[in-house]
Parts: sequence; structure tokens; C-alpha cells
Amino acid sequence: MSLLELDNVTLRFGGVVAVNKVSFSVEEGEVFALVGPNGAGKSTIFNLISRIYDPAEGDIRFDGKSILSRQPHEIAALGIARTFQNIELFEQATVLQNLLVGRHRHRRSSFVTELLFTPSVRSEERRHREAVEKVIDFLDLQAYREKYIAGLPYGVRKVVEMGRALALEPKLLLLDEPASGLSVEETQDVAYWVEDIKKQMGITVLMVEHDMHLVSAVSDRVLALADGQMLSIGTAHEVQNDPKVIEAYIGT
Ligand code: ADP
Ligand code: MG
Repeated sequence: MSLLELDNVTLRFGGVVAVNKVSFSVEEGEVFALVGPNGAGKSTIFNLISRIYDPAEGDIRFDGKSILSRQPHEIAALGIARTFQNIELFEQATVLQNLLVGRHRHRRSSFVTELLFTPSVRSEERRHREAVEKVIDFLDLQAYREKYIAGLPYGVRKVVEMGRALALEPKLLLLDEPASGLSVEETQDVAYWVEDIKKQMGITVLMVEHDMHLVSAVSDRVLALADGQMLSIGTAHEVQNDPKVIEAYIGT
């Protein structure tokens, strides 16, 4: 079954049709990439899936059920986590704290049970720690564990931003331009991680990315968009060689 389905989704901002009758589905276990020139509607699609925007038309289903009745804060609990194109971390907190905060936002225990500090709260706390430590090991962040975000190089922050989303142990991970601003070597690391996120962690990935080397290296399928419309869908090779895609890129 498809994990995520967009069914004829449209969203307008005033006169601009940011997303125009877009339909695609992401299968469980695949890496699916959205590509296209600036303004194509890629980040808006992420914001629609995150429930930040309501589509004017169409439906979005996760695990077979419409998510349009859900609030943005319920999305992580459903199993969808995302990174932001502009990194969104707490600057005055450590790497460890940033990863823990992500999980605590959707923890189950109430304030009262926390005050009583019941065994169930202790075991929940332990689960949070374990999930976060696993991500720190996975992303090789041990050296930065207790460092404040504010003092970290851009490339490391980018990794922490991915870690924050991974710490939620999602079924679906949305990565908005994971390689933007990174060096060739750092981009290669992102490629290895995305492969491992898929193969070792079993997490499905929907990614927006401009770097076509990265897209080709990691994606099972690619959807090219321009001006909110679907241009081409297929393997990276098929999409890159589609005359409609070539024309849209040359035209910008
Ligand atoms: P991409 O991520 O592919 O570069 P976006 O999804 O950010 O593109 O934008 C798609 C279109 O929607 C653009 O024309 C953009 O200017 C417009 N847009 C995006 N967000 C907003 C907003 N909050 N208000 C008005 N227009 C927006
Ligand atoms: Mg964008």
C-alpha cells in the first residue's frame, strides 16, 4: 500500500496557483524526490503534508487515511517528521537538548504524572533517551553532543536538523533540501545517510533537492514540477531526459 498519497491537490496564494492538481503516491520503503525550479511548489507541498496549509481542492492520505482533519501538532504522532529548508533549531541549546525537545513535544505523559514521576514516566524518559542516542550514533554526532547550536558550522547544523526529525522515529521523513549549502563531501555523507535511513531504519523518504547528483544517487522515483504543475514522473534518468523537464529548466 502507498504510505502517502496526494490526490489532485491544489493550493492558491491570491492569484498564484502554488500547487496545481498535483497527484502522486509514495510507496513504503522508497526514496521519492521532488525537483523543479524555484517557485515550483515543492516547499508548499511539504507544508500541505505538514498541515500548515489547507488545500483548496484534493485530498492527502497517510497510511490510507485522509489527514485533512488533523492539526499540524498531530502530524508527528502519526509518523511524519520533517526538516526545514531554513534550519529550525534552538540556537541556545545543545545538540542533545535539541534532539530531546523534538520528542518531548509529543510525549504522552501529563504534567501531573510527571510531577509524581511514576515508573511509566521513567520508562518513557528512557525511551526518549535511547531514541536520541541512537540518532547521535547514526549521524556521527558524538563529538557535538554537548555543543551549543549557535557555535556550530552550517554543515553540522544541517545534520542536527536531520537528526531532530529522525529522533521522532517517523515512518515518513520529509527532507527539504538536505544538501543545500553543503560541500561535495558533506553532500556525499547525506547520500550515505539517506540510503541507510531507507535500508537500515526502514524509513520512507520524501525529499526536495536541487542537487541532481544526489537525487540520482538515492531516489527510486522523481517527480519534476514547474509553476505548481506536474511535468514528469519516473526514475531520475527518465525525468532528466524528459523534453518537458529540459524545457522548464532552460526557460528559467
Ligand atoms: P519551491 O519550494 O518549489 O521553490 P514554494 O513552494 O516555496 O516553491 O513556492 C511556490 C509558489 O507559491 C511561489 O510562487 C511562491 O512565491 C508562492 N508562495 C509560497 N508560499 C507562499 C505564501 N506563504 N504566501 C504567498 N505566496 C507563497
Ligand atoms: Mg522551497
